[in-house]
Amino acid sequence: MEQKDLLRQLPAVDQLLQQPRLKDLSREDHQLVLTITRQVVDDWRQRIKNGITILPAAAELAREIAARYDAAGRSSLRPVINATGVVLHTNLGRAVLSPAAREAALQAASRYTNLEFDLENGQRGNRYSHVTGLLRELTGAEDALVVNNNAAAVLLALSTLAEGRETIISRGQLVEIGGSFRIPDVMGQSGTKLVEVGTTNKTYLQDYEKALGPETALFLKVHPSNYRIQGFTREVTTAELVALGRRVGLPVMEDLGSGFLYNLESHGITGEPTVQAEVKQGVDVVTFSGDKLLGGPQAGIIVGRHDLVAAMARHPLTRALRVDKMTLAALEATLHAYRNPDRALQEIPTLAALTLTAPELRRRAEQLQQLLAGVLGTRARVGLVATTSEAGGGALPLTELPSWGVTIQPAQLGIRELALALRRTEPPVLGRVQEDIMILDVRTLLPGEGEELARALVQALEGAP
Ligand SMILES: *Cc1c(COP(=O)(O)O)cnc(C)c1O
Repeated sequence: MEQKDLLRQLPAVDQLLQQPRLKDLSREDHQLVLTITRQVVDDWRQRIKNGITILPAAAELAREIAARYDAAGRSSLRPVINATGVVLHTNLGRAVLSPAAREAALQAASRYTNLEFDLENGQRGNRYSHVTGLLRELTGAEDALVVNNNAAAVLLALSTLAEGRETIISRGQLVEIGGSFRIPDVMGQSGTKLVEVGTTNKTYLQDYEKALGPETALFLKVHPSNYRIQGFTREVTTAELVALGRRVGLPVMEDLGSGFLYNLESHGITGEPTVQAEVKQGVDVVTFSGDKLLGGPQAGIIVGRHDLVAAMARHPLTRALRVDKMTLAALEATLHAYRNPDRALQEIPTLAALTLTAPELRRRAEQLQQLLAGVLGTRARVGLVATTSEAGGGALPLTELPSWGVTIQPAQLGIRELALALRRTEPPVLGRVQEDIMILDVRTLLPGEGEELARALVQALEGAP
């Protein structure tokens, strides 16, 4: 058909609004239906101009408009069910906040607060004062500061302590941590000159000593997080580096990444240093994330020597990297729980998930298997499997977390189709696909999500041809 004939055939907006489905929706929100109808008609006009030669019927266009209307009512950012077993899944928002942290963030968002107001003397206060006391108490450091994330913490610390001068770091620690955080790039951005010492697998204290010069400002140690060199390796210990720093009068900084405040060795989680242990050894500045193993909101936490932290607080970057009131409220509540370690283990979802025992996980998986087998009937085969979860977020890369999962083998659908259908349910469900089965790891399921998961699976499998 000719382009101009197609354009003539394209239904007018008023005509489309007479479609029964759109008439119904117009009663809910006429303005929105009108706006979307105009957009859809415009889009089709453009497609015709671009050379498309077929036009859907009016009823089909009405379906497209209704689908866009439904999508518009949903937020783009919404809850999903994490059945991947990755506790700190960066793509799924990392840490889930504790009930106390959620409540604190909600209160801070809903009302005026004393964010920067000193209630005692009636004058302007300091927004960081709400957490510095707790951070000092929990980590043993002299002072603390909080910024947007740990990448920002590293940037601010380096900019303050070593801009225009040299920072010495071991080659084995020049790591990339997820996506776009590369230690050398952040160092470049801060204006410090990177002096790499040692080799990829071995670095000795003499390597640091040889690199010392009049321009040296800082020794930097970086936790390799998601990466380990195993075998014939040597890194200088924190204690050795601190001793060298003291001897030559230069500060030592450590980017810890995860920031464990709680030693989980009795739960089988080993090899991750705690913040307080590093502070105790004399590291001058330690940085870590708020939303990795700490289990709080996204934040970058800096603790350390008072004179250095105070200099960072005065740096102009601090204003650009500052955290908002909801973050501070959630962080304060999270830190509060750590004053009582047993409470922290129970209340902070990240710690609770990491310390779930295999028998408990098995019990939960059996329960879920029963529920799912009951509702899915012949639509899928539902089984039980021993599996392994991950801490995620670049934390604890070598720690295997034995877990249990429920397997789903659809009778009609292909496994990729099931995965897609599950991403389209409300809430969407993310599991792990292994060959032709889907594994739903129960470690990362939150209380009450079993029922939602069952509904989503029924919906996904019913959409099957
Ligand atoms: C994760 C990580 C970072 C980045 O922290 P964000 O809070 O994600 O900005 C920096 N350094 C190390 C060692 C890390 O593990």
